[in-house]
Amino acid sequence: MEQKMTKEQICTHYGDDPSRYMGAVNPPIFMSSLFCDVPGNEEGRPGRYGYSRPTNPTVEIAEAKIAALENTEAAYCTASGMAAISAAIFHYVKQGDHIVSVASVYGGARSIFESYITRYGVTVTYVNGTSIEEIENAIQPNTTLIYMESPSTFLFLVLDLKEIAALAKKRGIATVIDNTYSTPIFQNPIDSGIDMVVHSCSKYMGGHSDIVGGVVCGKKEEIDQIRGNEGVLFGGIMAPMEAYFLIRGLRTLPARMKQHMANGIEMAEYFHNLPCVKEVIYPFHPSHPQYERAKKELRGCSSLMSIVFDLPDDKIKEIGKELKYFHKACSWGGYESLFIALGMGMEEDTDIMKKGLVRVHIGLENVEELKADWDQALKKVLG
Ligand SMILES: *Cc1c(COP(=O)(O)O)cnc(C)c1O
Repeated sequence: MEQKMTKEQICTHYGDDPSRYMGAVNPPIFMSSLFCDVPGNEEGRPGRYGYSRPTNPTVEIAEAKIAALENTEAAYCTASGMAAISAAIFHYVKQGDHIVSVASVYGGARSIFESYITRYGVTVTYVNGTSIEEIENAIQPNTTLIYMESPSTFLFLVLDLKEIAALAKKRGIATVIDNTYSTPIFQNPIDSGIDMVVHSCSKYMGGHSDIVGGVVCGKKEEIDQIRGNEGVLFGGIMAPMEAYFLIRGLRTLPARMKQHMANGIEMAEYFHNLPCVKEVIYPFHPSHPQYERAKKELRGCSSLMSIVFDLPDDKIKEIGKELKYFHKACSWGGYESLFIALGMGMEEDTDIMKKGLVRVHIGLENVEELKADWDQALKKVLG
């Protein structure tokens, strides 16, 4: 077996082969839908390029890097995170099956469960996910999939992946996790026994808010099936240009995540100390209900967090308007800081959202400038 590479080594060099491309240190963007029968790419040759819906040489480099980063045998890049999520779900679920899903998963996944997959007679039970007994009780004789996200969307609940994977294996149930929040730098769910990992590459992995993409990672046999079924038949493939930008983003992923984490920890503490803030939800802040578990499960923490304000909605929105460095926008994982007021107009908390919740993404800016920005905005609005 080859020696285990560091994440940095994988991100910078693995899968690149300048000797194939006239010494170019960056791979060409293979803008070719088809590949013809020439010496070296003969019909019938294993690994031969034929048509870019199943395989493209630029996309293949991104897939090799991500599989190595996730410690999985293979990876398949898709047109978006949602294409990766739906491919994984449809791979494991057929008519009449039952799914157990963490309630606070990404909204798109939850929409598939609530309003799309029901047409195939598939049913879903939602769990908070933090207790193994609750998951065990939700399992039915026809359960084929446990779908997870950890830390989860908006509430950042942290799951015990080893415990859940062991339970699922015992019951013959497949496990899929959305690992977008942690990236493969901070968490490798395969090492805990999870079967398949999906990502939105539109977030930290791309890292510059310039691409939409996704990836499914797992055993070679299963990823080959996804490539040939949900990939080739549904056709939600990653384009070579997107793959190039993804590769470029991956080169700096470990360095960026270090900076995001440092900024995230510091800003969480800053928010925690504000009198107008009721709760900061950030897995690496000691006030998080699963702080100890988070330290055990994750090698590090990215810089997306929720702040629950003890303020009227209009004041929260005004603060957002006064912030200069925080764009008011959805998504996250780019270089830039973001502010989005999500828990507005609510009477009480739900299983996925809290009243007065604002989601904040901490970018790669200087953290002192970010704090100063909040200081001036709070002063202006609250006096
Ligand atoms: C954004 C996001 C997705 C969806 O990804 P797209 O690339 O926008 O399709 C999936 N999961 C999580 C956790 C996300 O934040």
